[in-house]
Amino acid sequence: MFERYTEKARRVIFFARYEASHYGSPHIEAEHMLLGILREDKAIANRFLRSNASVESIRKQIDDHTTLREKTSTSIDLPLSNECKRVLAYAAEEAMRLGHEHIGTEHLLLGLLREKECFAAQILTERDVALEAVREELKRNPQEAQVRGGGILPERPLPFANEPFLDFADPGVVRAMQAALASVKSKLGHEYDMVIGGKRIRTAEKIVSINPARPAEVVGIHQAADESHVEPAMRAAQTAFATWSRTPVAERVALLRRVAAAIRGRKFELSAWLTYEVGKNWAEADADVAETIDFLEFYAREALRLDAAKTPIQLPGERNQLRYIPLGVGAVIPPWNFPLAIAAGMTAAAIVCGNTVILKPSVDSTTIAAIFYSLLEEAGLPDGVVNFCPGAGPGFGSALVAHPETRFIAFTGSKKVGLEIHESAAKTRPGQKFIKRTILEMGGKDAILIAADADLDAALDGVVASAFGFNGQKCSACSRAIVDASIYDVFLDRLRERVAALKQGDPAENLYAGPVISEIAHKRILDYIDIGKQEGRILTGGHADQTQDGGFYIAPTVIADVAPTARIALEEIFGPVLAVIKANTFDEALAIANNTEYGLTGAIYSASPENLTRARNEFHVGNLYLNRKCTGAMVGAHPFGGFNMSGTDSKAGGPDYLLLFTQAKSVAERL
Ligand code: NAD
Repeated sequence: MFERYTEKARRVIFFARYEASHYGSPHIEAEHMLLGILREDKAIANRFLRSNASVESIRKQIDDHTTLREKTSTSIDLPLSNECKRVLAYAAEEAMRLGHEHIGTEHLLLGLLREKECFAAQILTERDVALEAVREELKRNPQEAQVRGGGILPERPLPFANEPFLDFADPGVVRAMQAALASVKSKLGHEYDMVIGGKRIRTAEKIVSINPARPAEVVGIHQAADESHVEPAMRAAQTAFATWSRTPVAERVALLRRVAAAIRGRKFELSAWLTYEVGKNWAEADADVAETIDFLEFYAREALRLDAAKTPIQLPGERNQLRYIPLGVGAVIPPWNFPLAIAAGMTAAAIVCGNTVILKPSVDSTTIAAIFYSLLEEAGLPDGVVNFCPGAGPGFGSALVAHPETRFIAFTGSKKVGLEIHESAAKTRPGQKFIKRTILEMGGKDAILIAADADLDAALDGVVASAFGFNGQKCSACSRAIVDASIYDVFLDRLRERVAALKQGDPAENLYAGPVISEIAHKRILDYIDIGKQEGRILTGGHADQTQDGGFYIAPTVIADVAPTARIALEEIFGPVLAVIKANTFDEALAIANNTEYGLTGAIYSASPENLTRARNEFHVGNLYLNRKCTGAMVGAHPFGGFNMSGTDSKAGGPDYLLLFTQAKSVAERL
């Protein structure tokens, strides 16, 4: 992270680390950063502190203050405190505001002054060093910093680019991931708070999140919100709404971008958490983290675009305005399978538009959500804008949905729960004065069509990756391969070979196929495999795999000769189970593909433009892919969301998404 700073600024941080260790502090605090600046940049020391403050007198002041702290550290390998992280984020904003490409010492000083509550800012303001005066001074004397390394600041205007994936073929990247896994392992089992309106809350009942590869290993312990927490959370969110809804869009956008920058700096660590808590292998975990960054960066830009919206027509003699205002307080209810990206995406979209939310993560992935919440806090999220309430779906979740003041529900999860939420939200309750809005993204029974003229290698690659990537636990996963009769047998032979060769084992060791999420899921999937044994022929897999640690493993399973109307061809299994269905004609293949109540993703492999055109027009899914796999949607390029029982087609990562979290107000002023 630090190569994006000027040489001088990097040395400031180095000195700050040294100073913190000198004071025996467990973290680098803002006052150590101040000492670092004074040591490194004599010009700043002279210009802003003048003669009324020697460095020694400041040291003395810090020394007195530091006696209050626990003197625990003897190491100089110290982490930045949260206030320090905010100082750095503010420094980045200041550098951008002053038109500088990199963060220099002067921006760090401005960052310290902006972090008003910190001891360093107190020392500075006691000496009459004022934020505005320093800014003015810097504007009058622009000094372009001497730089090495790339810029942390974006080029202007801000184009969106997807976050690149890590290259795990690079031994340096592998070492970094192994180091992160080792470091996160030592943090497993901690207890996290519920946070309502900035208040940290503990409950008697706990949610215990475990590692599905080693169920005895506790990943995190969490509080369990129940119905009694809905009202306090609503009050906190309403109070925060009064100010957050009026906070300038630029500030809300800056918050999202600070969180994105923090995640970028902690990619490996977050990937390691995903590996332990939900069983993602390295590439799957990295993709979740990259998508999180994409959502934050994309919605930040979209919010600015929406803020600049204009009416299509300006009437003569009037000023016509269209403003997209927030809805109010909403519930954000994500699933466990993209526990960072979906939780962050729905939360970020809601708050960047000025709403405040109550975030109820899944019980299977609460630790990741708690870490995401802590990143929001570190980035300066005001109290009550996001209220972090881990809890069960049926108790806390359904009471939250039912609350008369909940104005919208952003939900991603199963069809069953999505429909329950839809029904509950449609019921008007006493005191309610808003028609609740539901943004529901639900399950899928996604198909890949393999036409007679398909490139078989490409089709096999696509089917295997879509069906067995993250063990089929993606809403976009291919669970039906619909194969033309003329190539059916050869396709099955080659598919069996490839699937049987997939390596299964602990995702921390980066094996392709890890465990499924829970004991409940394990049982549900095995039950479906039993049904599949009646409805078709097991080509490979078809059983659980035992490990010493008791992980929830199921062998990647292909069931052939399945009828289009079989249960395993119609119901979402959400595990590593693929049904293969034979089609006699292309018409029949399309009819089979459309023969479920879902309509999320789908793909077709064919060399014929006519087949592709027919699929474009007749394959009824929200995300259609031609000659590529049906998973791996990229923010911006593939706005994501399904038709029919797959949801309300709210396209996440697309240009219309933020509209769902706003209401348009038309204002006409007579001139
Ligand atoms: P789930 O429906 O069991 O749970 C989703 C969330 O809803 C969780 O936070 C859960 O606690 C909560 N919940 C459960 N009952 C509730 C209730 N009565 N009221 C309010 N909240 C309640 O789904 P899951 O197992 O977490 O996720 C897997 C499902 O999500 C699959 O069906 C998958 O297809 C779907 N999914 C869809 C998309 C998409 O974009 N369409 C993306 C990812 C996952």
